[in-house]
Amino acid sequence: MASDDPDTTGRRRWFRILGSARNSSSPGAATTAAPESESLAPPEASETRAEDDAESVSQDEAAPDPDIADPEPEVPTPSSGSEVAPEAPVPKVARVAADRAPKRPRLTDGVPAALPVVPPEPMTLPRVIAIANQKGGVGKTTTAVNLGAGLAELGHRVLIIDLDPQGNATTGLGISHRNVEGSIYDVIMNDIPIEDCVEPTTVRNLFVVPATIDLAGAEIELVPAFSRELKLRRAIQQSRDDYDFTLIDCPPSLGLLTVNGLAAADDVVVPIQCEYYALEGLGQLLRNVSLVKTNLNPRLEVRGIVLTMYDARTKLAEQVEHEVRLHFGPKVYRTVVPRTVRISEAPSFGQPVTVFDSTSRGAVAYRELAKEVSSGATRRVG
Ligand code: ADP
Ligand code: MG
Repeated sequence: MASDDPDTTGRRRWFRILGSARNSSSPGAATTAAPESESLAPPEASETRAEDDAESVSQDEAAPDPDIADPEPEVPTPSSGSEVAPEAPVPKVARVAADRAPKRPRLTDGVPAALPVVPPEPMTLPRVIAIANQKGGVGKTTTAVNLGAGLAELGHRVLIIDLDPQGNATTGLGISHRNVEGSIYDVIMNDIPIEDCVEPTTVRNLFVVPATIDLAGAEIELVPAFSRELKLRRAIQQSRDDYDFTLIDCPPSLGLLTVNGLAAADDVVVPIQCEYYALEGLGQLLRNVSLVKTNLNPRLEVRGIVLTMYDARTKLAEQVEHEVRLHFGPKVYRTVVPRTVRISEAPSFGQPVTVFDSTSRGAVAYRELAKEVSSGATRRVG
């Protein structure tokens, strides 16, 4: 084909358009440069970081695409954009990309709205709240520790029960596994009273019942145990009046430990990470909450959903927030926890972020969340 081949001309024009869109994207304003259609693309496609773009430019240019070289004459398509002149043929690569651009299903497709629309019962204290989501790495432990610290700052007496064999809430609050004398394993398996295992933390009013790796065995050891689902509930009965809030940091599974956590709680708070697979498995969690409510704990309710690790630089985070709010309405807390380095650094210093960097965005967000969670809380009389 000669140099006036419409395909080649179109391709050059296409790269120019792409190039100008990319050049106009500074890292600070990365998301603004993304073409609108990218908002429906899967996560890789909607990542608009400058470095990712740079990589994709070089790949585009290096790899000869058989579609581009295809000499098949172009069929002009109506042009609506002002960037491409009306007479310019739409390059085939663009058509192919548009055909292939998958329509992302709604994140909430298949997620039951298993949350009652009736307002939850008033927040009377003492309150036991399970922080649960069987997905790992969504911010359960971070939320338990920092929400706990936020509530303690508000003057509440708070106990965090670490129910995860990984013991991250324990170490995140500055307790070394080696120094633990009594743990939640002893409470559940050996009927040791909770008070005997409570450890103080560096935060005033904040206490923790630690977990050690022994707890991994409890999941199996509980199987033949009598009333195996109610072990934690019975133990908490003794201590619940000593604390305004007892927060249970559940493990990333729907096994017997989580069932114990749900059976012992008044409410469930579900952290959801602002990413593409955020709601995967949520239906299953909500069904389990219903099962526990029906069979073991009639007062159990999902009190709220907290959006975590919100990265304002990505369009995806905004979409996840939008869809989750659309689906779950007022159950979603107004406070959204941002993804920040300070939140992820704090546990390695054994401190909640509210202590580690008291004025950081993460600390401010968890303080706000604590206010929302405890809003209207009154002490039960009698
Ligand atoms: P889970 O308990 O659900 O497994 P974690 O709370 O342990 O999740 O969080 C998983 C990882 O993500 C941890 O390394 C934690 O420090 C980090 N993380 C959690 N929330 C944030 C956040 N808002 N910003 C940055 N990192 C976070
Ligand atoms: Mg955890």
